Amino acid sequence: YYNDNTILYINGEYTKANAATTDLFGQSLHYGYAVFEGIRAYKTANGEVKIFKAKEHFDRLQRSCELIHIPYKFDNEALIAACYKVLEMNNMEEAYIRPLVFCPPNMTLKAASESNILICAWEWGAYLGEKLLRVMTSSYERPNPKAFKIESKSAGLYVNSILASQEAKEKGYDEALLLDMNGYVAEGPGANIFFEKDGKIYTPPAGNILPGITRATVIELCQELNIPLEEKLFTIAELKEAECAFFCGTAAEVIGLDSLDGQSFGKPWAQSLGKVLQQAYKARVLEKSFQREAQLA
Ligand code: PMP
Repeated sequence: YYNDNTILYINGEYTKANAATTDLFGQSLHYGYAVFEGIRAYKTANGEVKIFKAKEHFDRLQRSCELIHIPYKFDNEALIAACYKVLEMNNMEEAYIRPLVFCPPNMTLKAASESNILICAWEWGAYLGEKLLRVMTSSYERPNPKAFKIESKSAGLYVNSILASQEAKEKGYDEALLLDMNGYVAEGPGANIFFEKDGKIYTPPAGNILPGITRATVIELCQELNIPLEEKLFTIAELKEAECAFFCGTAAEVIGLDSLDGQSFGKPWAQSLGKVLQQAYKARVLEKSFQREAQLA
């Protein structure tokens, strides 16, 4: 993720990554009480480096902090400018950008009264790879919204994601799919889920999931491409009847599922609406034009 020359941004300063320090008594380190974002920069069709939906990501960072009472005294426009500067200082064009808001030393369980911000970046390929994924239904549930602010992209929440991913890997799968506390399909450890059935696309509604920015982009693309879309709760049994399914997230982008619990989907990926949306998403982040008809030919 970094080498001797890597520069990061911390509380208004640009510093060498290997010279930056943090306090071992920090509340974030001990209790997972921190908030982060995952953002991507792309070299767009006209050669310019652009951070995709930077404002949406920093707005969510701010909202995530507010939800769990971490003070947020940062100016989002300045932070976006800092992201571009970090990319430039590290000579990066296509990169994954990680802002992290973390709290100073405090061993109590009181909400923080101050916070710090770190922005770092590294070159990262598609997080879940390019191959269709063999997915298992996790034995872990997503955290109950009555037990946590699940719409906050909080560090501590990701222990649940690590457990689910690890279980899937131990059982020989590529990735996990988690249910909500009512037994409906929620999301992957780091991505939202969609499926296709009878010419229509479905995804779980907000409420028991992280409201993904990629998810919002896929919904916009469905509208633009005249693909009918419905947000609704569904079960694993219903998902197994699907023609295709895919995960989406900033790090993973749009990636198709090969199978769920060993059962494959009704259509070859190449003929699915998932593939159309995957290509449309890639075109969108690169600011290229995209026509659905051309892709289905
Ligand atoms: N759900 C979870 C649990 C995630 O960690 C992520 C990745 N941030 C997503 C969904 C997708 O969110 P986004 O599209 O905003 O990256």
